[in-house]
Amino acid sequence: MDKIIVAASRNRHKIEEIEAITRKFGMRIISRDEAGIPPVEIVEDGETFEENSLKKAKEIMKLCGKITLADDSGLMVDYLGGAPGVYSARFAGEEGNDDANNRKLLTLLEDVPSDERTARFVSVITMVYPDGTTLVARGECPGRIITAPAGEGGFGYDPLFVPEGYDKTFAQLSSEEKNAISHRANALARLEELLKERE
Ligand code: IMP
Repeated sequence: MDKIIVAASRNRHKIEEIEAITRKFGMRIISRDEAGIPPVEIVEDGETFEENSLKKAKEIMKLCGKITLADDSGLMVDYLGGAPGVYSARFAGEEGNDDANNRKLLTLLEDVPSDERTARFVSVITMVYPDGTTLVARGECPGRIITAPAGEGGFGYDPLFVPEGYDKTFAQLSSEEKNAISHRANALARLEELLKERE
């Protein structure tokens, strides 16, 4: 029987990716709404992906009493000293405004040559059990930021990010291609290893 896991995230795109990747581990991801959790706001005030991911997973687990999985993720651009990092969702001010975030990133990188436009996506997945057991898995995906958005798929900074070894953005790759190499896929592969070690 599939293991039921509550997703702490309310980001539909993230949940779809996590569902697609974890299906093969025998997990069934259910949303906060399906788990009957009231629409609480969790303040992401940590300075690291690890802190925010743990906070989200713990708070939602307390509300539902079921195994909970949280993803805290973002883009780290080398030229910007690792920004936007944990502030990726609200880089341009308003939470989750992808177009404004992408415009701000392009403006900050204006005239920066292509060999200095390196970046990586980071995802930290935390799984918290009702008995307090906590598993933390980090995944990264290196790449570079191009000079104009390309592609319609994905979400967030996907139209600006070309993963290493590719000549298309995450938004131009199919969801299967993105889910095979992404930071989230790498974090979930690490989580699978941690789960196997517990068996
Ligand atoms: P969080 O909800 O604080 O984890 O916000 C993550 C933010 O990082 C998102 O709103 C996006 O801006 C960005 N991000 C994380 N993962 C991805 C991805 O796979 N593609 C594009 N942007 C992403």
